[in-house]
Order: sequence, then C-alpha cells, then structure tokens
Amino acid sequence: MFAQTISTSQTTAECPECAGSVNFSGKTMKGEIVTCPDCGAELEVTAVNPIALELAPKEEEDWGE
Ligand SMILES: [Zn+2]
Repeated sequence: MFAQTISTSQTTAECPECAGSVNFSGKTMKGEIVTCPDCGAELEVTAVNPIALELAPKEEEDWGE
C-alpha cells in the first residue's frame, strides 16, 4: 500500500494575500487549511509539489438564509 503522503523539501509557500512566507512543518496535504502568520488569512493548500496556496473560501455564508 502506498500512503498518499507527499515528501517535499519545500516547507514554505507564499501567501497570496500578503506575499508573506507560510511555514509548513514537514509535510502537508492538498486541501489542508492553514493560517497565514502575517495577515491571518485562511489559506487552502491547492497543490503540494510545489506547495501552492489560495485564499480559502469563507465559511460564513449561511448568514441570513
Ligand atoms: Zn498573509
């Protein structure tokens, strides 16, 4: 069985919001949500080799039905 873990030496990626560096602790998975330490934006990992980040969709859209 092959585990779907990605090994990559890249442990930082650029925040699309503020261009700051977001650090990863060794490995990450596509679809993971991380928070930018600089601007606090929630970012979704859209690719892992190399790591790419996009702003995560806001989850507060069920206000007012
Ligand atoms: Zn940022």
